[in-house]
Amino acid sequence: MVLNGGMTNPSQLVSFNDGNTIPQLGFGTWKLSGDECYNAVRTAISVGYRHIDTAKIYGNEEPVGRAVADAIAAGEVDREDLFITTKLWNDGHDHAPEEFEASLDRLGLDYVDAYLIHWPFPAAGKYVKAWDDLIRIQGVGRVRSIGVANFYEETLDDLEKATGVIPVMNQVELHPGFSQASLRAYHDEKDIVTEAWSPLGRGDSLTEQTIVQIAEEAGATPAQVVIAWHVALGNVVIPKSGNAKRIEENFVALDVALTDAQIDAITALDADGGRSYNDPRQWPELES
Ligand code: NDP
Repeated sequence: MVLNGGMTNPSQLVSFNDGNTIPQLGFGTWKLSGDECYNAVRTAISVGYRHIDTAKIYGNEEPVGRAVADAIAAGEVDREDLFITTKLWNDGHDHAPEEFEASLDRLGLDYVDAYLIHWPFPAAGKYVKAWDDLIRIQGVGRVRSIGVANFYEETLDDLEKATGVIPVMNQVELHPGFSQASLRAYHDEKDIVTEAWSPLGRGDSLTEQTIVQIAEEAGATPAQVVIAWHVALGNVVIPKSGNAKRIEENFVALDVALTDAQIDAITALDADGGRSYNDPRQWPELES
């Protein structure tokens, strides 16, 4: 493991096209609920994470907000040093302002740092309307930056054509075996930050032979190697863990430096059909 002077940098920042910044390593919370979620977020903040990712559909905005409030009250962190993301679910595309207010209420926050459209849901055809509403919401000042998740080139083009406003980031499935090279290149062209969801392939990437071997070479764990690969590609990365030891292990990945050959070997794991979850071009279907 190569250490940056022995100091993990909690605020390694990536710049957005709207002038704001986001900590490159964040904490994912999908599947965490109730006290487990509260405790995990408290642990994450105490370890040094300054970026937390939640969503209405995760059903955990309330414990995330409580953990943030208690960490601030305990003097562990200031609100302005935290980056909180939440997301508009698929059933809210035609009433985003109400959905946004409800998310803020559940979080107990005055503002969030990023609000994202969670899926384009092309079958419903309402994502441009939702984006227009997010632009208005941003104008009111209770969200710093607006972006999307699971969008692909055509849907990103639609937003730009209709409004002239380009999302600051696109949070997409991205892990070893599915490195999203062409979408990342498109994001670079448009100055959109790539954020990787399921960055560890929900754990599946950690037993991949190439990753295990590089971990041995680097003196790091497989999870740290995968996170370091995301960081090297320039991705914002939000691994989830409900386990205090792994929450810390993942954060220390900021201190792991890979060689170009190691980075290339992981990127080369891309395979046909590397996507593990829903294809946003087809999912969700309209209910009949
Ligand atoms: P991840 O790729 O982050 O993997 C999480 C899994 O890996 C859990 O089972 C966890 O187990 C395990 N794990 C974590 N760290 C380690 C470690 N160091 N060693 C071994 N196992 C480990 O999957 P997610 O799907 O949760 O993705 C991350 C985040 O991305 C989500 O939490 C959510 O915030 C976001 N997301 C967004 C989506 C979208 O549509 N926009 C879709 C899916 C996710 P354990 O908890 O037991 O440690």
